[in-house]
Amino acid sequence: MINDSRTHGRCPMCDEIISAAHILVEYKKNNGATGIWAECLLCDDVVSPE
Ligand SMILES: [Zn+2]
Repeated sequence: MINDSRTHGRCPMCDEIISAAHILVEYKKNNGATGIWAECLLCDDVVSPE
């Protein structure tokens, strides 16, 4: 299992890897987890990486 701490998940729409440079916002979810909004260059849209 590969766990690269430099990435923050993949775009749920196109599966592109989201790198730290493309993160727009980090926030705390109600359950204490960290949520992210990031820009996907392929979709040209803001996504929530999975
Ligand atoms: Zn995408």
